[in-house]
Amino acid sequence: MEQYQGKTIFNKIAIGKVFLYQKRETQVKRKHIEDAEAEIARFDAAKETALAQLDQIYEKALKEVGADNAAVFEVHKMMMEDEDYLDSIYNMIRGELINAEYAVATTGDNFAEMFAQMDDAYMQARAADVRDISERLVAVLCGSNTDMHALNEPVILMADDLAPSETVQMDKSKILSFVTRHGSSNSHTAILARTMNIPAVIGIDIQDDWAGKTAIVDGYTGTVIIDPDAATLEQMSEKMREDERKQQLLRELRGKETITKSGKKIHLYANIGSVSDVAQVLKNDGEGIGLFRSEFLYLESETFPTEEEQFKAYKMVAQNMAGKKVVVRTLDIGADKQVGYFNLEKEDNPAMGYRAIRICLDQQEIFRTQLRALLRASAFGNISIMFPMIISVQEVLESKRILEEVKAELGEQNIPYKDVEVGIMIETPAAVWISEELAKEVDFFSIGTNDLTQYTLAIDRQNPKLDNIYDSHHPAVLRSIQTVIENGHKGGAWVGICGELGADTTLTKTFVEMGIDELSVSPSFILPVREAVRNLE
Ligand code: PEP
Ligand code: MG
Repeated sequence: MEQYQGKTIFNKIAIGKVFLYQKRETQVKRKHIEDAEAEIARFDAAKETALAQLDQIYEKALKEVGADNAAVFEVHKMMMEDEDYLDSIYNMIRGELINAEYAVATTGDNFAEMFAQMDDAYMQARAADVRDISERLVAVLCGSNTDMHALNEPVILMADDLAPSETVQMDKSKILSFVTRHGSSNSHTAILARTMNIPAVIGIDIQDDWAGKTAIVDGYTGTVIIDPDAATLEQMSEKMREDERKQQLLRELRGKETITKSGKKIHLYANIGSVSDVAQVLKNDGEGIGLFRSEFLYLESETFPTEEEQFKAYKMVAQNMAGKKVVVRTLDIGADKQVGYFNLEKEDNPAMGYRAIRICLDQQEIFRTQLRALLRASAFGNISIMFPMIISVQEVLESKRILEEVKAELGEQNIPYKDVEVGIMIETPAAVWISEELAKEVDFFSIGTNDLTQYTLAIDRQNPKLDNIYDSHHPAVLRSIQTVIENGHKGGAWVGICGELGADTTLTKTFVEMGIDELSVSPSFILPVREAVRNLE
């Protein structure tokens, strides 16, 4: 049994097998080798592993998507055993004394090129398959592992680091917990772990030989235990049962109001990143959705989601929430949320760069498509629209002008929509200082304390070295919140908090005393915050 100490992201416990999620370098390097036969033996062993993976994937696909769709994995197996393909690899290893990874990658490229040149459409389509099998072989040879299809049970996923785009694409039903070597507690990957209600720990020195071993992740203490002994397993299982008992008690608060003893009511909403998160909101009795991070629809996708795809997603959320408020934030891409197909240039300071509303006002077609989808979906529920990263009144006026144009366009086409509430995120010091003017232009403010802390304290929320001084309780942040609430109310706007600080129950009393109207938190924090509000005088 070995024990490691990291930093906790979400308080919960998981026990399960370790899955090492290892990305390989995108560029396969050519290396000289001495012993061709040993290299061929290494290749043959990798091929057997890859074939076994394909067997598992085939069986699983057969059950889940039927024989026709599963057949492609049979084809992959056949291609992996194709004599010409294998001869090419063996000849390169023996003839040029090069490493197996390079021989496979080069053979894969050559064969794919050859297939692509053929006249027959069926053969042309095989180019993608030969690339696929070559990538699988190279991944096995490099010891990389990102393929979760073949997993039969949920796992503790361990990785060097995880980008938000990778995290959202993972099959959530397969993940018991995240453990990473790098990453910061304020990153979007950390936020996703909280939204997914799974324990997560960062800052663990992950070892290669942990793959497949049993581990315990204690999200309360930030501890990771590998190969636990029987006594520790029993002790942690008891802690999990205790957790479940606490959850059970909290569940008794479902259906109850979020109201202080003296009768002050707080709207308690939830933060989500995808349509599937709505289930957690309903389970935890969220009174609405205070932040739908719509950019995750873009992160999940291989290309720009169409108006129709977005419409369906927003409509589904609005309908599932059955008339309760659903605040959708327009695209907040950029900084740590990078999407390849946007082709954003590399920037020295992406958090202060070309992002969010700046992109939307610059590339208006993207913005208009999203607004059309949102307005169309508004006819099916209670949608509000919120603009992120606002720094000026001008940006709000321009965004509202475009929204009005889109409404007019829909009107002309006789497409129904509702008159939605419009709000903005307050997450820059600039927005705090002009909040009196901003309040006159919008129906509501939602304070994004994650970015507001970053920009107020000049501390990069992504930098793990600064995690210990990234302090959302800093008086400058708390006074900003107070100012925003006062100015919002003066201008007739309701004011909420949708940053992670909204879930901090040590501050619930402070927020209520400041006059906050709404708190929007990850689904698993809804009931603890309700309890905290109900305990207030
Ligand atoms: C915030 O900045 O507080 C916020 C809610 O938005 P995000 O975390 O997605 O930047
Ligand atoms: Mg933000």
